[in-house]
Amino acid sequence: MSTSAARTTTFHNFIDGAWVASVSGDLFEDRNPADTDDVVGAFQKSTAADVANAIDAARLAYERWRLVPAPKRAELLFRAAQLVADRKDPLAREMTREMGKVLDETRGDVQEAIDMTFFMAGEGRRQYGQTVPSELRDKFALSIRQPMGVASIITPWNFPMAIPSWKIIPALVCGNTIVFKPATLTPLSALNFVKILEEAGIPRGVVNLVTGGGGDVGTAMVINDTVRIVSFTGSTDVGRTVSEHAAPSFKKVHLEMGGKNVIMIMDDANLELAVEGCLWGGFGTSGQRCTAASRVVVHEKVYDSFLDQFVSRAKALRVGDGLRPETQMGPVVSAGQLETVMKYVEIGREEGAKLACGGHRLTGGPYAKGFFHEPTVFADVAPSMRIAQEEIFGPVVSVMPCRSFDEAVAIGNGVQYGLSASIYTQDVNRAFAAMRDMYTGIFYVNAPTIGAEVHLPFGGTKATGNGHREAGTAALDVFSEWKSVYVDFSGRLQRAQIDATEL
Ligand code: NAD
Repeated sequence: MSTSAARTTTFHNFIDGAWVASVSGDLFEDRNPADTDDVVGAFQKSTAADVANAIDAARLAYERWRLVPAPKRAELLFRAAQLVADRKDPLAREMTREMGKVLDETRGDVQEAIDMTFFMAGEGRRQYGQTVPSELRDKFALSIRQPMGVASIITPWNFPMAIPSWKIIPALVCGNTIVFKPATLTPLSALNFVKILEEAGIPRGVVNLVTGGGGDVGTAMVINDTVRIVSFTGSTDVGRTVSEHAAPSFKKVHLEMGGKNVIMIMDDANLELAVEGCLWGGFGTSGQRCTAASRVVVHEKVYDSFLDQFVSRAKALRVGDGLRPETQMGPVVSAGQLETVMKYVEIGREEGAKLACGGHRLTGGPYAKGFFHEPTVFADVAPSMRIAQEEIFGPVVSVMPCRSFDEAVAIGNGVQYGLSASIYTQDVNRAFAAMRDMYTGIFYVNAPTIGAEVHLPFGGTKATGNGHREAGTAALDVFSEWKSVYVDFSGRLQRAQIDATEL
């Protein structure tokens, strides 16, 4: 480690209610992507043995936690929500320092964790089942939700507190215990959230945090037979591996994966609004949102006008350190992510798309020690080009012309992903037709592809998701199982078929 090692704070795993070092004795560093000299902290480079300890603790704790009445579990979660709310600003600042997005966005990220925790805590008094008439006279028929056991929670770096909260809180309110592995690029925000759960009084062993790489820690969390559910958010390739690893033990697998989201702009659209939507949809979080509007399909009648305005706004975006109040777009998260962005810019050029603005890494001066890239717009993109098909996950937007509404929908649907889509139009008929015909889990009218609210289901179709949804009450379906219950109070063996004489 560098000479700054002596000043670097070391953070630990949280297993069975104690902050402990990994059995490996190894650490990894978390650095600020706006200034790589700034070491955010050193974190445990954990192994399969640490995971086994955490799963053991979660297994034992489950036997107690599942019997805590859900409204009581919820009381602890309400307390946690309030603690996050009380510390929103410092939590947001630490998040910006660790992964780069601007303060307004990290405040939004923390706010989502607050909203989700309050919302899900409320589910402690709901979790409704069904009561239906029985086929027999002296019998009740009903269904109840049951917790599943130990849940493995694996999360990406782009929403370092929101996404963990979307998984951890519904898992807990349903009565499961968890082992949580955040991305190696954002362990601090994850750890901050777990610390708050500890402070709120979540009992020992119910929440366990293990930091480290996907290959070592993640795999061990997925293949372990004790674990009954894996909830994963990340790339489609890793999601496929997770799914394969989980299959032999028949665990439930909840996958939220990549996206290539589209904004469709019709000839009757309010262009000013559409430009604004594309700007924040495309370049918010430096394009590193699963719901980022990385494709824009524009009706040919308004194509030139839209492009002029969009490009001039993109050029004017102020790129810099997300902690500075004037910054509108921060760095990308890592050297690897920057390389991917630069590789796709090259691919776009080679494919013959027109580079309308950007296209370069920003270097020197305030950019010298970070991973900064210009907001980049490719115009006249063909729908089949790789830049219009593959998830780049950076500040690169592909603009494509279309001749009709039907063509826009066909282009919009013509990718392997299905997370979010949007249409800008004044025509209510088109808006509803697009809502019905877009194969995505989320749809917007006259708003960008971003901006989900916690009380509605969140997730995607096709290569984005495997049919589950998080957020809203849909999350309860991920983290619980149905049990059907029949209660016979007749005191005799009732026959399945009732004679006419008994009616
Ligand atoms: P990633 O797939 O590289 O990693 C996600 C998590 O999986 C990390 O914690 C990682 O360490 C872990 N992991 C890696 N290999 C593993 C393995 N073999 N077994 C188990 N875990 C493993 O993704 P990322 O780079 O952190 O995040 C970006 C991706 O996440 C993008 O594709 C983005 O679209 C997607 N994402 C999707 C949503 C959604 O809701 N659909 C939300 C946010 C991000």
